[in-house]
Amino acid sequence: MYDDNHLISQLHAASKGQETRNFATFPARASVTYGELYAGAERNAAALVAMGVKPGDRVAVQVEKTIEAIQLYLGTVMAGAVFLPLNTAYTSAEVAYFLGDATPRVVVCDPARIEEVAAIAGAARVVTLDAKGLGTLTDSVVGRGGFTPVSRGPDDLAAILYTSGTTGRSKGAMLSHDNLASNSLTLRDYWQFTERDVLIHALPIFHTHGLFVATNVALFAGARVVFLSGFNADQILQAMPQATALMGVPTFYTRLLQDARLTPEHAANMRLFISGSAPLLVDTHEQWQARTGHRILERYGMTETNMSTSNPYEGERRAGTVGFPLPGVEARIMEQGHEVALGETGVLEVRGPNVFQGYWQMPEKTAEELQADGWFITGDLARQDADGYITIVGRQKDLVITGGFNVYPKEVESLIDDLPGVLESAVIGVPHPDFGEAVVAIVVPSAEHSISAERIAEVLSDQLAKFKQPKRIELVAELPRNTMGKVQKKALREDYGDLFAQK
Ligand code: AMP
Repeated sequence: MYDDNHLISQLHAASKGQETRNFATFPARASVTYGELYAGAERNAAALVAMGVKPGDRVAVQVEKTIEAIQLYLGTVMAGAVFLPLNTAYTSAEVAYFLGDATPRVVVCDPARIEEVAAIAGAARVVTLDAKGLGTLTDSVVGRGGFTPVSRGPDDLAAILYTSGTTGRSKGAMLSHDNLASNSLTLRDYWQFTERDVLIHALPIFHTHGLFVATNVALFAGARVVFLSGFNADQILQAMPQATALMGVPTFYTRLLQDARLTPEHAANMRLFISGSAPLLVDTHEQWQARTGHRILERYGMTETNMSTSNPYEGERRAGTVGFPLPGVEARIMEQGHEVALGETGVLEVRGPNVFQGYWQMPEKTAEELQADGWFITGDLARQDADGYITIVGRQKDLVITGGFNVYPKEVESLIDDLPGVLESAVIGVPHPDFGEAVVAIVVPSAEHSISAERIAEVLSDQLAKFKQPKRIELVAELPRNTMGKVQKKALREDYGDLFAQK
């Protein structure tokens, strides 16, 4: 029975009749057809039900990137359960919090971690899946028959993804079948993905970008996917002449630019390079165009909202912006309860079928950020230009308030980044006895040139009001980043927290 509310029924329907088409290749593994993909997903669903998984139960998964892991995701949701992927870098102490919070029925982990996970899994059944696709999960999947997706309503949960938790405790974002299906369909059409596409997939599959944006869009398009276990410039460049699209975080692009093999000829078969999850520097955008002839398409979203805005496929892809609200998504920029004027900075709010159902077991947190009329307060600062393009200026919590004045880090960072001899920078606020907070710039000089802190300060003194000028400029070899390429400003604030401490 076909259930048109069900995410997996909808994904599956998109490739019906195409069972012999190639879906995916993984390094050192045989390729997998669409028919094999969904047959394996059905066996996973049957195995989970046999383990006692009921609709609405959570299945927590901390495993490497394999075709079996993708089938486990599809199978979990087919069974009416809630897929809960966990970053493979999380330690047992971190995993213990997620398992305690989400109380999953089943936990799937790498066999190397079975003992530590079993010790923290509570009442959950623990099964294993390794980087080759083997383990006790696979043993219980083998030989099972077909499975009809358990009927679900559009607002029933398909996944819980914990946010990276840069402030306070990590929160479980509850995503429904309709949140995921509607957003992936919109993106497929907006970015014109079809069965002729071959997508290079080097992102992790425990995060919204690699799991939902990349995988679901490819499945809805009936496209082929070249899965790589992670970022690897050699493997990406090797795949590129036969591929048509790449989805990456900005660091993919900065690293590929360092490789001499990246040329217009090498990228000739590609039609689309997409970037998101962290800001793409204007400089990277321009260099990429010079080196490949392609303009990177930058989009913006977050775990709680899926994707909210995107630069256009056909129209101008404007560097330094994240484009327009996607079809069906509304966006507004607010300050103290009112929309700001064009060009002014405020907090970005979004509303639409993409917006999540709330934070798992945190009704108060949910009520603070997801308003009764459906507008979700993203916590990102943004502005919109006269043509409607939105620019993300940074996180609201990264705003620096010095001597009572607001300083938007992005404004200072953009000026520093434009200087010859600078690769990139991060501007933070650190405690200061007089000003409350002081503006501090952490700057990475570029490899070819050198630049001094004095020179940076001198240029900024002509361009910025005194209160916005950094009180200290520190030169470093690189900025701390997480797996999604996001600069960890919290870590920087900790490292430089006592720069102005009174001795
Ligand atoms: P996550 O929930 O891990 O996907 O992180 C979402 C956050 O990443 C957003 O709230 C933004 O702060 C940031 N982000 C995502 N895409 C972009 C982008 N294109 N430009 C700037 N920041 C972005």
